[in-house]
Amino acid sequence: MATVAELDIQLVSHSDFDKPTNIDWETEASAGGSLVEFAGRACYETWDKPNPHTATNEAYVRHILDVGHMTVLEHSSATMYLRGVSRSCSHEIMRHRHFSFSQLSQRYVPSDEARVVVPEAVLKDERLTKLFLQSADVAYDAYGELLDGISESFAQEPNAVLRMKQARQAARAVLPNCAETRFVMSGNLRSWRHFIGMRAAEHADPEIRRIAVRSLRLLQQSVPEVFEDFSITTLRDGGEMATSPYVSDI
Ligand SMILES: Cc1cc2nc3c(=O)[nH]c(=O)nc-3n(C[C@H](O)[C@H](O)[C@H](O)COP(=O)(O)OP(=O)(O)OC[C@H]3O[C@@H](n4cnc5c(N)ncnc54)[C@H](O)[C@@H]3O)c2cc1C
Repeated sequence: MATVAELDIQLVSHSDFDKPTNIDWETEASAGGSLVEFAGRACYETWDKPNPHTATNEAYVRHILDVGHMTVLEHSSATMYLRGVSRSCSHEIMRHRHFSFSQLSQRYVPSDEARVVVPEAVLKDERLTKLFLQSADVAYDAYGELLDGISESFAQEPNAVLRMKQARQAARAVLPNCAETRFVMSGNLRSWRHFIGMRAAEHADPEIRRIAVRSLRLLQQSVPEVFEDFSITTLRDGGEMATSPYVSDI
């Protein structure tokens, strides 16, 4: 029987910052926030903070967003490791062109274990969940049979790894959109803001919206100065969305 894969997102890396020792400037922020301010100040060499309204890192980053000087956000980056994402949702995420991805291979890694992502709208209903899992079972049973049959037809191939790769790359065609995938996703903070702005919006697909909101929470913890303008609210169906007054400028 297919099992339900739960969403898991871990922030596995984010930018560090080493202030040049020969520049007389201090700030009070996370590494990512400091790097953004440093890049902005480097444009004008305003190390002495001549404008009292932008003297704190929080105010400086807010000013960057106000004036749309978004390129300074590109120096700082973050990497997430995502598990429990449906193959169809990963396809949508990978349309975001400024990110780098490394995704679990269906050609090299067997999909023996039927792990699937069930949409919230289905999970709410026991009967529909059963129907959903049964249909996944049918697909995974066919996958197993195809794998065996295709491996037999490649029996003359002496290299066992190659034989299995040839079988998996053909058999995987019947795996469903709900099959769980896992991937590493890296991008700069401007890209993360754009992704969250688009995908945490109310009308985004609930699965990608959940991923965007979860990513936002992790980023708000590690680089609060750059993501604190986003606020998270609960929708009537219990799901969450996030929005920022700067979202149309992203
Ligand atoms: C509601 C909704 C429905 C959708 N439906 C479909 C659909 O039916 N079919 C489909 O194929 N896709 C669909 N998409 C996906 C959509 O077309 C985009 O591929 C995806 O949302 C990524 O958006 P993006 O290009 O803005 O983002 P990114 O690729 O993350 O790019 C970020 C920004 O960089 C700039 N940029 C990036 N590349 C270029 C470039 N080559 N030239 C100029 N500027 C660039 C743009 O300003 C862009 O907004 C849908 C998306 C949404 C939100």
